[in-house]
Amino acid sequence: MRRIHDPRVGLPVSLPAVGTLLNEPAYAELVKEYGRERVVEAIREQVASEREGAADAAGRHAAVAAKLRTVAAPRLRRVINATGVILHTNLGRAPLSQAAIDALAVAAGYSNLELDLASGKRGERAALVAGLLTALFGCEAALVVNNNAAAVLLALTALCKGKEVIVSRGQLVEIGGSFRMPDVMRLSGARMVEVGTTNRTRPADYEEAVTPRSAALLRVHTSNFRVSGFTESASLAELAGVARRHGLLLLDDLGSGAAEPIGDEPTVAESLKHSDVVTFSGDKLLGGPQAGIALARSEQGVEAVKKMWRHPLARALRIDKLTLAALEATVRQRVTGHAEQIPVERMLHAPLEDVRRRAAMWSVKLAERGVETRLVEGSSAVGGGSLPEHSVATTLLAIAGPASRLSTALRLGDPPVIARIDKDECCLDPRTILKGEDETLIDAVEAAAMTLRR
Ligand SMILES: *Cc1c(COP(=O)(O)O)cnc(C)c1O
Repeated sequence: MRRIHDPRVGLPVSLPAVGTLLNEPAYAELVKEYGRERVVEAIREQVASEREGAADAAGRHAAVAAKLRTVAAPRLRRVINATGVILHTNLGRAPLSQAAIDALAVAAGYSNLELDLASGKRGERAALVAGLLTALFGCEAALVVNNNAAAVLLALTALCKGKEVIVSRGQLVEIGGSFRMPDVMRLSGARMVEVGTTNRTRPADYEEAVTPRSAALLRVHTSNFRVSGFTESASLAELAGVARRHGLLLLDDLGSGAAEPIGDEPTVAESLKHSDVVTFSGDKLLGGPQAGIALARSEQGVEAVKKMWRHPLARALRIDKLTLAALEATVRQRVTGHAEQIPVERMLHAPLEDVRRRAAMWSVKLAERGVETRLVEGSSAVGGGSLPEHSVATTLLAIAGPASRLSTALRLGDPPVIARIDKDECCLDPRTILKGEDETLIDAVEAAAMTLRR
């Protein structure tokens, strides 16, 4: 024992040496589980707190064990999304389908990622999914990279570097807090030529900006906002006309990549009719993992996609094997007519009666456990920077009690439940609760309500 001075009382207190503690059986157990180094560090921190009077020696072992558990526990945790925001960026955008999750497990081990099993020769990883994408969208060429930001960067770099790209001032968007079109353009080495104004850009504005140095026209979908009132923008068909007349490429950054019409969201099929290269995300309305997809149908577009493939940046931005596996499974589900098995699709189209029935069922079960709730009509959002003005009718379950304290208790629960506060009530939206999560959710709500009563 070393004797040191306790600043609180001015009396000497005893603190053990770390080595002595390690020999005690309770600490030896911790060493077995977490390794000597980590335990020594946790004991040192604990003893230092005791010395400062911030901790008590009586709870020493429990505190050390808790510290080690916290460090060892995974930081990434499953949460229940009760917000009603289907593509919730903070919660990982699209939840994967079971087929996609199963595919992740296949890719996690050894797989024929880059081996053509028939010939025994080296294969191309992206070929696994390119054929499915061209089949799904009825086009001629497909390329996949890490995310849509990467797809746009690759297109601009491979096709427009050192040349001019004409874009409307109304489409110089920022998406997801870090994707800013002017920054991406600068990074690619293409020169951005802005035309029109924030609210109005006409085909003639593009036409007048064409020079011998022009390489492409770029249309950017204003995914996460709408300009209303006195507005005008050139349609993709009109832009295609300008591009054709001047032998330029028409690039379309679509963002969401809707396979089916929804709200006023432009579809991939519509874009492919006019543009040469269209790019969009894998984890927005497509309902797959984070990925960037570039598609082409025109002869010019196919050449452009080939050029993108061959560019060295494509290697740096390439899709990883787990993502590729999940993407392949998701696209295959759409190609084979099983889109309804994709959670995003199911959530978007779940009939209101089903949602209401689910909320009512929870309400009854919670009442049996002494938790008071009521049903409230409301709306779910698509989210993920898609369809800012589109909402889907839903029925919310409002929990009686102080909204902010309830939502905090739910968030700190196990598993964490992310609720929504609507008109000062803590609400749960069944639309974004995955299949099979109902019982867990009810338990979590009961537990949260109990913590407030204590
Ligand atoms: C979402 C979005 C992006 C960024 O896509 P990520 O897949 O998140 O990189 C780029 N452009 C538009 C128009 C978008 O909507």
